[in-house]
Amino acid sequence: MKAMRGSSTPLRFAELNVIRKSWSRVKVRVALCYPNVYRAGMTGLTVQQLYYLFNLHEEVLCERCFLGGGEPRTVESYADLRSFDVLAFTMQYEEDYVNMLRMLMRAGINPLKSERRESDPIVIAGGQAVSANPTLISAFADAVFIGELEPKLPELLDSLMDGRSKAEKLLSLSDIDCVYVEGKDYVKRSTAVNLDDTPHIVAQVTPTDRSEVLDPIFADALYVEVSRSCGRRCRFCLLAWTNGPFRYRSYDRFIELLEEGLKRSSASKVVFIGANVFDVPRLKDMCRDVLNRGLSLSIPSLRPDAVDHELLELIKRGGQRSLALGFESTSYNLRCFLGKSYPDEVIEESFELASKYGIRDIKAYLIVGLPGESPADVEACGDTFRRLASKYNVNVHVSINPLIPKPNTPLQWLPPLKPAQVREIYRAYLKALRHRRVKVDTLKPHRAYVQSMLSLADVTMAPKLLQLAMMDHATWSLMSRELEKVFCNPREENPWDVVDLGFPRDELKRQFKMALEVVGASEQLARWL
Ligand code: SF4
Repeated sequence: MKAMRGSSTPLRFAELNVIRKSWSRVKVRVALCYPNVYRAGMTGLTVQQLYYLFNLHEEVLCERCFLGGGEPRTVESYADLRSFDVLAFTMQYEEDYVNMLRMLMRAGINPLKSERRESDPIVIAGGQAVSANPTLISAFADAVFIGELEPKLPELLDSLMDGRSKAEKLLSLSDIDCVYVEGKDYVKRSTAVNLDDTPHIVAQVTPTDRSEVLDPIFADALYVEVSRSCGRRCRFCLLAWTNGPFRYRSYDRFIELLEEGLKRSSASKVVFIGANVFDVPRLKDMCRDVLNRGLSLSIPSLRPDAVDHELLELIKRGGQRSLALGFESTSYNLRCFLGKSYPDEVIEESFELASKYGIRDIKAYLIVGLPGESPADVEACGDTFRRLASKYNVNVHVSINPLIPKPNTPLQWLPPLKPAQVREIYRAYLKALRHRRVKVDTLKPHRAYVQSMLSLADVTMAPKLLQLAMMDHATWSLMSRELEKVFCNPREENPWDVVDLGFPRDELKRQFKMALEVVGASEQLARWL
């Protein structure tokens, strides 16, 4: 296959806290590649943290590269990707797989690992999406890193250093227990056991040229990671099942990070990063400390049953004007299916509290298309949000997403919903939710289908993925139709079972059966339509 070369010039701009090293004084040059645009990559901590971790090592240089219109070049030195020893792709979402291949092609590097040469950089993929299912991307990445980089970085760098040939380096990489390469029959997730002992970037990179294209969503913010994973184990949640046990930073460590971070930035806001920050001991003390320093704060999304007077008061004082709540469903039965079984009263209580603290905008996340979901459930959902919007005088922004079964979660055995099914379900919800104070947005049915298929795909889908990456104007519907031609539904045993993420397959199966029993669905699944 002939690799493509792009031509247009990417953006260049100034940043605070950028790290620049001498190319001649290091042993390994890593391009940290985020297969999406700068703004997406720099909103959050993942890119920042990886950049910091690699650059902590004196003998390693790490520069960032984002998806742009033409040939990818790094932000720090404007270098092309072929100049690096290693390309480290961080893949948080399945949709980014296509972008990863496009970045490689635009850099003049063959995306198929089997077609690359000794002189090409070593391509490593990591991140949440590929940690749950590394099989598809293993056709393109020389190695897939499963889990968290911190504990295994020294071992990874050892494999990449010294005067070995590329083949020797790849062999050494494949020996690391958390590295997956095609054909390996067991790989164990890497997990940072104690977050207090885990390095955290404080000198965070922020653009000093302000523009809508560049500014991360939380501009002038200091990001502090207070927790990882979640112990609640909602059955649909990739993060809870594939990201190791719930861990958190202590109050004292939080304060240290806050103080160090503020010295190195002009941040006026602190963003709390973590899937389930509400289970972090002394979270409210952390919030108070931020407020007492005259800073605002943001907790990006909330569990409805975690909302209480004290927390809402702190959030309001911190300048947050809206709440994002993961309700998932207004039906108790369907919530039990999903494994998020808070009582019905919680929904109204969260509206009542929001209204009491002057919050006028609530974003409500819902998952639809569940086995056992009936037209009566849809009607009840519409009644609930219309009634609460009127009663508490709030604007409700309902975000509707179809259930996307994720690998290595208990719902991995569900067949993905077809776009036509999703469209029909949306029609019913849109009708039921019609109200002047209720706004609804939906994930495009074809886009959801692409996500489902890439999430559950294995290496046999690689030629199709490559074909999609080579199309200039691949729309979601085109991609979904193309993928449907080769996709096969999840099986009893799946190719990603080789990844040990801490939960035996029997436990996932047990949870799946419990979920089906809740809604009285057989394993052959009577779907809603
Ligand atoms: S509470 Fe949220 S983060 Fe935790 S498992 Fe459920 S959906 Fe995932």
